[in-house]
Amino acid sequence: MPLTPEQQAEIDALREAPQQTLRATVPGMEKHLYVAHQVLDHGLVRVIDYMGDDSAICQAARVSYGRGTKSVQNDEGLIRYLMRHWHSTPFEMCEVKFHVKLPVFVARQWIRHRMANVNEYSARYSILDREFYIPAPDQLAAQSSQNHQGRGDILQGDEAQRVLDLLRDDAMRSYDHYESMLSNDGQQGLARELARMNLPANIYTQWYWKTDLHNLLHFLRLRADSHAQYEIRVYAEKMCDIVADWVPAAFNAFRDYRMDAVSLSAQAAAVLKRRLAGEVVTQEQSGMGAREWREFTEQWG
Ligand SMILES: Cc1cc2nc3c(=O)[nH]c(=O)nc-3n(C[C@H](O)[C@H](O)[C@H](O)COP(=O)(O)OP(=O)(O)OC[C@H]3O[C@@H](n4cnc5c(N)ncnc54)[C@H](O)[C@@H]3O)c2cc1C
Repeated sequence: MPLTPEQQAEIDALREAPQQTLRATVPGMEKHLYVAHQVLDHGLVRVIDYMGDDSAICQAARVSYGRGTKSVQNDEGLIRYLMRHWHSTPFEMCEVKFHVKLPVFVARQWIRHRMANVNEYSARYSILDREFYIPAPDQLAAQSSQNHQGRGDILQGDEAQRVLDLLRDDAMRSYDHYESMLSNDGQQGLARELARMNLPANIYTQWYWKTDLHNLLHFLRLRADSHAQYEIRVYAEKMCDIVADWVPAAFNAFRDYRMDAVSLSAQAAAVLKRRLAGEVVTQEQSGMGAREWREFTEQWG
């Protein structure tokens, strides 16, 4: 269950008590406020608070660049100009705070993004719930033979069933032992900060994660990408939907100039130019190593 009944009651109470404010609000984001979007089997992402909108980015750019922005006709054009030219600080004027519930092995990847403020559920103070991520059958894949950091074909039949059984049994047995070590029924009971150490990395944790739009887009660029592990990518994809509703102009610019854009090395650009002029260029003539050439031809043929 992504949310406890207490958390759901808190959300319902907050959504029933709207407050008038002079601050900029965005209807697209208001609809997400406090709403828990389910991710994976027990995970969630929800917006707790936000500051700023597309106009806040332009307001900051205009104070920063003054007359330099006069030539840009409208807010959307200015935002696209800023994104295109890597003028990133105006995007830092927007902030957002998420509540995220996620497996510990996903949290380990996520926490590498240092430009954020985090408060995590304390398993020293509180007892963790019996909630473990068990992949859906279509995500139970074999090791990729091509990519050391990726998945290959989906496991089938008995093998798939055996893996699911192992994952479930190990999780339940570890949690039974956790409870038994914590119990003070006829014993002192091991400290929570120690008992947690036998829990597997697919147990769920929770945190509040606050960051600014510039760093959030950087996170999304890396984690909504097809190279990111599926289990973190699904969180990033849900957050992309939320950001698109919050700052549509900034998100469109981000998609066009970052997410769906391509960057070319000097050598790759030179090869493409020569090809456009009708030349046939081999790897030896390209100035690229074998791996770079393979990646280049995978993308450009
Ligand atoms: C597909 C994928 C595979 C990965 N595989 C591995 C792996 O195998 N092993 C591994 O260890 N990590 C791995 N990572 C994590 C990766 O190396 C980064 O740690 C992570 O993506 C965070 O990126 P970041 O440092 O740019 O983000 P943030 O920490 O959010 O930083 C944002 C930006 O702030 C600046 N910044 C922040 N802190 C500093 C600092 N101390 N000094 C200088 N500049 C700073 C940098 O410009 C940085 O880009 C992987 C990431 C991805 C997306």
